[in-house]
Amino acid sequence: EIRPAQVKSALFTWVRPEESKEPELLAVSSAALQDLGIKEGEEKTEEFKQTVAGNRILGWDAEKEEGGYPWAQCYGGWQFGSWAGQLGDGRAISLFETTHPHTRKRYELQLKGAGMTPYSRFADGKAVLRSSIREFIVSESLNALQIPTTRALSLTLLPHEKVRRETLEPGAIVARFAESWLRIGTFDILRARADRDLIRQLCTYIAENVFDGWESLPARTPADDGNNESPLGTGIGKDTIEGPAGLEENRFTRLYREIVRRNAKTVAAWQAYAFTNGVLNTDNTSIFGLSIDFGPFAFLDNFDPNYTPNHDDHMLRYSYRNQPTIIWWNLVRLGESLGELMGIGANVDVPEFVEKGVRQEAADDLVSRAEGLITRVGEEYKAVFLAEYKRLMTLRLGLKVFKESDFETLYSELLDTMEALELDFNQFFRKLSNFKVEELETEEQRKKKASVFFHREGATGFGITDSARKRIAAWLENWRTRVYEDWGPDGDDVNRQVAMKAVNPKFIPKNWVLGEVIKRVEKGGEREILDRVMKMALNPFEERWGGDEAEEERFCGDVPKGDRAIQCSCSS
Ligand code: AMP
Ligand code: MG
Ligand code: MG
Repeated sequence: EIRPAQVKSALFTWVRPEESKEPELLAVSSAALQDLGIKEGEEKTEEFKQTVAGNRILGWDAEKEEGGYPWAQCYGGWQFGSWAGQLGDGRAISLFETTHPHTRKRYELQLKGAGMTPYSRFADGKAVLRSSIREFIVSESLNALQIPTTRALSLTLLPHEKVRRETLEPGAIVARFAESWLRIGTFDILRARADRDLIRQLCTYIAENVFDGWESLPARTPADDGNNESPLGTGIGKDTIEGPAGLEENRFTRLYREIVRRNAKTVAAWQAYAFTNGVLNTDNTSIFGLSIDFGPFAFLDNFDPNYTPNHDDHMLRYSYRNQPTIIWWNLVRLGESLGELMGIGANVDVPEFVEKGVRQEAADDLVSRAEGLITRVGEEYKAVFLAEYKRLMTLRLGLKVFKESDFETLYSELLDTMEALELDFNQFFRKLSNFKVEELETEEQRKKKASVFFHREGATGFGITDSARKRIAAWLENWRTRVYEDWGPDGDDVNRQVAMKAVNPKFIPKNWVLGEVIKRVEKGGEREILDRVMKMALNPFEERWGGDEAEEERFCGDVPKGDRAIQCSCSS
């Protein structure tokens, strides 16, 4: 029997997945097969099925007791702002690392819900089908939207497994993969143990094995990192993002900055696509800058910046609007863990220094240098976040260049309008993509067009009033002016529409869609729906997916009125 254990001097434990009887492979992501370099047809073999169900351990020779052996990671975490101690992979077991034969990209494959580990604490190591379906679809959806994320390969039903939550529920396993499953929590636990050697080893491992070596990390004053240039040529790439001015930095500081920059970009993408994670604890914040740990996540329906998908998040700590702040809060915890290595001693507080015989003034000096450095990296976080947010919003609005005035006249005004009139965030951009600018010449035309943004049965509480339409029409006039500016008066409006549709998804796996899929799979045994919705998630910018047209349109359409802004509980 496996019991909770406090781990010392290590960051993982060898552990085998539990045998699962008669596992049923419900669905596979075709994109994942490709990205892992798995040959077509292999997903139909018995070996594949048994591997992703945890029954077959690849690379492990039981006779000789050698080869690869599965493991679970140890980490800690700050949960809702408080230190939670040791957590770890309580229901995730990593099987092996695999490198794609051509792209040379390496991934770590892991099973979620395959039984207990030494980190299960007081839970069962299982995952229910409901939350597994959610993770399976959203991982692949985010990836298709080009938002950095952990991935999902397959979804397996465990027909003999009844998992107790509020009720008894079917159990499942998601086989998932990522460039790295390390989190800020991995450093938190080492800091809590004051394990300076392992912090240094972990940094070295990350720089050399997770990233492309110490030399690849951002230089003191990084030039444009090549990722700020819009395919449409927004010109944002010309504003190089300066490294923190006057920073005396060593390689650990550069490692810190790399992790900060990656997370800044990812959270910018969440904001630009209105994705909320719902539980942004430090154990759910990736070192690689991936979206990670999909519990009560949601894409926003109507634009409501205070929305949190987490039913238990009464303080709105993990609300949409708070995400950039909270990720930075988490990154400050990381800065504190790395403080000593960055040469600023930030992981030791003043009384501790003084107790150790350091003069008070010297201790104060160290702490202020630490705060100074982290604050300056914070400026870089803001700069990278803003550059990425502007890049994505410029693309989503079909513009070629970002103009400072866009912030006011396009972004702020649009967000305020959406909030006030309860408009659907992602649908707005898709509908806008389909507009022809020549149809927006007159106030009358614009007001007529404005109607398409409202929910079919009218904006809740407002109705499609004349003043509501006027407000959108005014915004459309600003937008039209900017489109003319960027594309010229005789611009190629068709190309502008094509470019916009390539970044503005028609399909987003909203909570209500996932809820319906779950119900139909669980209650109706209707498994084909998984493949159909997965196809939409993998190709979110298409117009049609070759299935039942009415169903596809419904899944892309209006959120049923009673299903808007649903919240989830954490029990999954
Ligand atoms: P999360 O809220 O998903 O970030 O999980 C927090 C911690 O609880 C992690 O250490 C998880 O591995 C652990 N955990 C959550 N659910 C279970 C479960 N059913 N069995 C074992 N551990 C769990
Ligand atoms: Mg977690
Ligand atoms: Mg979780």
